[in-house]
Amino acid sequence: MIVFDLRCARAHVFEAWFASTSAYEEQRARRLVACPTCGETGVEKAVTAPNVGAKSNRGRAEAPPASQAEALRKLVALQAELLRRSRWVGGDFAAEARAMHEGERPERAIHGQASAAEVSELVEEGVPIAPLLFPVAPPDQVN
Ligand SMILES: [Zn+2]
Repeated sequence: MIVFDLRCARAHVFEAWFASTSAYEEQRARRLVACPTCGETGVEKAVTAPNVGAKSNRGRAEAPPASQAEALRKLVALQAELLRRSRWVGGDFAAEARAMHEGERPERAIHGQASAAEVSELVEEGVPIAPLLFPVAPPDQVN
């Protein structure tokens, strides 16, 4: 089956289905194709604008949604970069952070483990600490 947009002599445009292009030509020649609006049998193929371009234009206009996986990958990379410049102090984190905060040790980037109670104490003392975005395995536990 094939569909054509047809236009009658009075400029009505309508769709009609045919078995083939030759079937359309034959029915048209025998005046079997009539306009559904006015019954006019003098019809010809209507010139219509293809809508393929409009569809692809619409597709290009929609920007792909920001990939969450990509955003996550960047955060992981950022943390990895920060940790490369940071020293792992393990369970000594609270003591090390406090010592640096009180000026007993030179300040430098460290990361390690702290209990919830230790974290609360550090925050109350005004020690600038922040949780890691992603959990890291202690270096001695990495294969
Ligand atoms: Zn018509």
